[in-house]
Amino acid sequence: MKALNVVLIGPPGSGKGTQAELLRDKNGFVHYSTGEVFRDHIARKTPVGLQVEEYVTSGRLVPDDVVLRVVNAFMAEHAGKPTLFDGFPRTIPQAEGLDEVLAEQKSAVDMAVLVDLPDDDVVKRLTARRQCRKCSKIFNLTFKPPKVAGVCDDCGGELYQRKDDSDTVIRDRLSTYHKQTEPVLHYYSEQGKLKRIDGALGRDRVYEEITRLISAA
Ligand code: ADP
Ligand code: ZN
Repeated sequence: MKALNVVLIGPPGSGKGTQAELLRDKNGFVHYSTGEVFRDHIARKTPVGLQVEEYVTSGRLVPDDVVLRVVNAFMAEHAGKPTLFDGFPRTIPQAEGLDEVLAEQKSAVDMAVLVDLPDDDVVKRLTARRQCRKCSKIFNLTFKPPKVAGVCDDCGGELYQRKDDSDTVIRDRLSTYHKQTEPVLHYYSEQGKLKRIDGALGRDRVYEEITRLISAA
């Protein structure tokens, strides 16, 4: 596979994080999730963490300038590697900021993949989602329950429910997605870079589709 820069877009709970992990483990992509980066900063109580905590726990978008500062720092370290952007860009200014920093490295976004899912499915999936505190692995009480309740299959870490996975916060995140992130789809579609995958197909089929798109690129 070529050293592609791929942007994964989708509503919360569409499974893009899971796909990004698969593509990292099996296809050698660097996986860059701004949500994971922010949760890590919050857990370590760094200055960035204190600045973004309110936004992340209430499901609102972190301001673009903060997001772009964190992304630019990452890009400085990982220039030239095939990268999968998960949960970024989420606004037009973020998409423009990513184009700029990639252009400085004589690189570009090669493909944007929308993993699509209807709102009702999103709510169903997210309220059942649990995550490992130690290794960040994601479980779902309905579709992919852990072998032992509350315990991570992989590392034995404690499973928890993210604060932003409560019902009301999920509704807010969805409306933010429709308002702020859907224009980003249009941005990539105008450049002929957008591909759409049905997120309801399930983990393995979605992964097959994504790898097919990437090999064809
Ligand atoms: P999900 O895709 O399931 O909503 P993420 O882990 O991608 O979860 O993001 C969690 C939260 O982190 C978001 O609700 C938002 O507050 C913040 N966040 C992550 N990425 C961005 C971004 N690119 N721009 C603004 N805020 C972000
Ligand atoms: Zn774990």
